[in-house]
Amino acid sequence: MSATITPVEDELKAALLELKSANPTLGIPKIHALLLSGHPEWTVSEKRTRKILQSEGLVNNASVGVPGQLYPTSQIIKGFDVAKYTTKVEVKHFSKIKGKGLVAKEQIKEGETIWKEDPFALAPEWNLYDLQMSSHACGYCSTPLTTSPLIVPCTASTSSMPCPVRFCSRLCLSRSGRTHPLLCAARNPAAAPLLYFARRNQWMALHALSQVTARVLLTYNQDEKAFEEDWEIVRSLAQLGMEERAKGGWLNAEPDRAMWKKAHKLYIQAFHEPATETEKKRLAKLLKKPLPQDVADALFDYDAFLRGLGRMSLNLEAHGGLYVLHSHLNHSCAPNVSARHFDQRTALSRITVLARRDIAPGEELTITYVNPELPLEQRRRQLMEWGFGKCMCERCVKEERERKAEGGDGEANVEEKADLEAELKAGLGVM
Ligand SMILES: [Zn+2]
Ligand SMILES: [Zn+2]
Ligand SMILES: [Zn+2]
Repeated sequence: MSATITPVEDELKAALLELKSANPTLGIPKIHALLLSGHPEWTVSEKRTRKILQSEGLVNNASVGVPGQLYPTSQIIKGFDVAKYTTKVEVKHFSKIKGKGLVAKEQIKEGETIWKEDPFALAPEWNLYDLQMSSHACGYCSTPLTTSPLIVPCTASTSSMPCPVRFCSRLCLSRSGRTHPLLCAARNPAAAPLLYFARRNQWMALHALSQVTARVLLTYNQDEKAFEEDWEIVRSLAQLGMEERAKGGWLNAEPDRAMWKKAHKLYIQAFHEPATETEKKRLAKLLKKPLPQDVADALFDYDAFLRGLGRMSLNLEAHGGLYVLHSHLNHSCAPNVSARHFDQRTALSRITVLARRDIAPGEELTITYVNPELPLEQRRRQLMEWGFGKCMCERCVKEERERKAEGGDGEANVEEKADLEAELKAGLGVM
């Protein structure tokens, strides 16, 4: 009989990480069995395996969740034409877990503009939203309004049914036709309680979902081909359901289930079944064509609504815009691209995506989803809350290695930190 040994923590952790990354969909018992068959000399209890996988954030909630929903899932958007934005990048499908991403098609130089993009939908930061709702920022592009003669008010506003929204130009007024009518206090008063609820609770994902729903519904009524494109975009966004996030213990300070229920009720009243006859008539005027059942279910069922919120939270840019090409970008704690709002006087919601350093053909483009100034553990924890697993980006791996080598805390060097801090501030528009 051969002697058995008890592996030390680091050794066991390394072996489990390797197994889990090679077999991401396997649950704890199967990973444990694989571990023991690969190391027949080891004595390890399943409990110990579970503990390590849990502490590393690598547990699938397979017993309670839906397989495939344990990490954000995304699809390639069928018929999506990247060339409309830029010829410098292409969409690539990496793997089931990693999903899609963008890679460089040619050499990109540091500082180069890679593309510019207007949002698919916009739920701006609340200070901007308040400006929009008090006639001080464009209701479409969110640019603060001056005294320009080009400014136009919402055309539906009347003295008995006032809508405070104004637009910076006729172009913005016309573009707003894709969303505003369903969110307009004059045309669809049933939406007011929903918007008020989102505002009061500072629930950006709910506001964004309202914007997206308004767009999808109106587009369906206006132009069926454009609807097919929009719907494909919405369905292909990376998603992780609220329930899956709750089960993972990942929700932190976000609104709880009672709030989800309340929000769902207001959402249905806003876009599907208003509470009063007058409101019903007004909504019916805007939505003349009945929605196909599958689309109605995918928008209004409670579970679908929660998935929709999860999609928004995962894909919104820091200012609250949902950008189709930008939403393809994966995370790195040392990103090689950055999104800025340069057109502050003309189109505040437009982003310019810039190269932060030279990017070689074939290299993946990445942005940061978390505050890069945070230390290693906190960055990883925040990313795990989103189901992204343990961040194994180059920077995290390097910092972890340095920390082990030094036995110290592996902080990034001062210069690197200052650089990343500047990046974050610029990303959030405070610079
Ligand atoms: Zn505008
Ligand atoms: Zn209006
Ligand atoms: Zn990282």
